[in-house]
Amino acid sequence: MITPTKLLLFDIDGTMLKAPSGQVLLEVISDQLGQSIDNQHEVYLGGTDLTVVPELLEKNNIQVDDVDAFTQTVLQDYDQRVTSALEAPGKVRLLEGTQALVEHLNELPQFALGLVTGNTKVGAYAKLSPPGLADYFKFGAFGDDHGNRDLLPPLAMQRASKLHSTTFASENTWIIGDTLKDIRCAKANGLRCLAVASGWIDAQTLKDHQPDEVIDDLCDLEQVLKILNR
Ligand SMILES: [Mg+2]
Repeated sequence: MITPTKLLLFDIDGTMLKAPSGQVLLEVISDQLGQSIDNQHEVYLGGTDLTVVPELLEKNNIQVDDVDAFTQTVLQDYDQRVTSALEAPGKVRLLEGTQALVEHLNELPQFALGLVTGNTKVGAYAKLSPPGLADYFKFGAFGDDHGNRDLLPPLAMQRASKLHSTTFASENTWIIGDTLKDIRCAKANGLRCLAVASGWIDAQTLKDHQPDEVIDDLCDLEQVLKILNR
């Protein structure tokens, strides 16, 4: 077996797919509180589930006795509901180009594919499983590992090293994501960043935050390979 030299750490929402998981989280929080709360889209943009819950409370001016304990309870409940909530056909929508790119990268021995995502681990695979992508991502760092996204890449790199019995150089490690927080977590760790404008943030705004590359989506396989093979 050829040992991979390049580590690709993919974000999920807005980068590879879109899924109505925010609705599930909102339902769980509302059930726990016994009152409905409003959605606040901006908290999801690159946020980890450990920070999304307290920020939703704050934006709704709701106080609970112990925010950390409340968040843990919410995420446990969320993990129990999210898989069945997203398994019906059409709930998870793969973004154009994702399937072909992931399948192709998986065939290339120089690449190791993993995740750096704000989703809980259960939530991440609840989104990747329906379109058949779960098996391509055997490790990652998740939104229930740390609240601070900047701390996730080193964890994903450790897990990648363990799985592949090799170490990946930071200049050979790419964060692929759609938000400013993806760019920031790459920079905070001296990693490279391919920003994708297929989420909710336009290409110019992403460019203004100076990732290594910005592309509109994952459709142009040759373009993406050229960037990642540099
Ligand atoms: Mg995202």
